[in-house]
Amino acid sequence: MSRVLNFSAGPSAIPLAVLERAQAEFTDYHGLGFSIMEVSHRGKVFEELHNNAIAKVREFYNIGDDYAVLFLQGGATLQFAQIPLNIYAGGVAEYANTGVWTQKAIKEAKIQNINYKVVASSEDVKFDHIPKVEFSDNADYGYICSNNTIYGTQYSTLPSPKCPLVVDSSSDLLSREIDFKAHNIGLFYGGAQKNAGPAGITIVIVKKDLAARVKDSVPTPLRYTTQIEANSLANTPPTFGIYMFDLVLDWIKEQGGLSAINKINMQKAAMIYNQIDSSSFYRGFAKKDSRSLMNVSFTTDNAELDMKFVKEAEENSMIGLKGHRILGGLRASIYNAVSLDDLKTLCEFMREFERKNG
Ligand SMILES: *Cc1c(COP(=O)(O)O)cnc(C)c1O
Repeated sequence: MSRVLNFSAGPSAIPLAVLERAQAEFTDYHGLGFSIMEVSHRGKVFEELHNNAIAKVREFYNIGDDYAVLFLQGGATLQFAQIPLNIYAGGVAEYANTGVWTQKAIKEAKIQNINYKVVASSEDVKFDHIPKVEFSDNADYGYICSNNTIYGTQYSTLPSPKCPLVVDSSSDLLSREIDFKAHNIGLFYGGAQKNAGPAGITIVIVKKDLAARVKDSVPTPLRYTTQIEANSLANTPPTFGIYMFDLVLDWIKEQGGLSAINKINMQKAAMIYNQIDSSSFYRGFAKKDSRSLMNVSFTTDNAELDMKFVKEAEENSMIGLKGHRILGGLRASIYNAVSLDDLKTLCEFMREFERKNG
């Protein structure tokens, strides 16, 4: 078998152990003679898997019954619209603008014609850092994106506002421990396809009292309360995605949980940022205090060399290193499933490429 080293931004690497387990169970789930894709989402077998996955999420994030854990569809993108639709309460919704993904969320607030305010932004410097963010105590909610996938910036610690905090954690889901109480998190969500499985499932953790704000005019399928009341089974959920997500949760447990995963993630990030900082050939995009442990955006400051880097990396079985089209340059996405050894190989390649082209 020959597997490439996968530095793609999303969909992205899934742990090999997870893929192999899914493969082994693909036609015969737990010796029952059917695949998990082929049975009712309301049957015993799926129900058990589903509830186990929810329990694992609760355990990892240490959250109680005041939160609902939902597995939805429509991607993180649908959440941009669903959030104001459900939890805007007629006051002010505040947003921190740290890149394309928050811009898209802000656009949906605008379309819904709610009273929203952008209270912090790093747009004037092309989103190269996380600005200082302060939300009003009495805002309906304060909205952030914890990791900005394109620019490679990340909140090293989340804000702790008095108002409910809403977090788009699509690209750093399950990468570190988060204290929901300390940060007064009201809604925490992300698509699975960056750090937690295949595309098609969106994890939404929402405080039940926030979800209860929803107005009667909101269509039934777009209400969190509909899915809370039905334990995400108001309609057919993405059963295979939930299954894959559950296998990823097991894998994280085997690695020692979120704190162990975070330690490895810090080592991986230190390795590549040291590589960038120790040379004048490469330049990192994000300001040092805002650097992401998940996405590392950098460049040789020469578009042709960047292209050559991507091409030669591919020839050396490393994929996904082309920067996002908005930023250009290079990007290494080093999610949970990317190993320390993968990073060693990438850094060796970076040194060799610099030696030949520097
Ligand atoms: C990828 C991404 C999204 C969009 O996710 P979709 O599932 O494609 O809707 C939103 N926010 C962040 C931070 C992302 O990285």
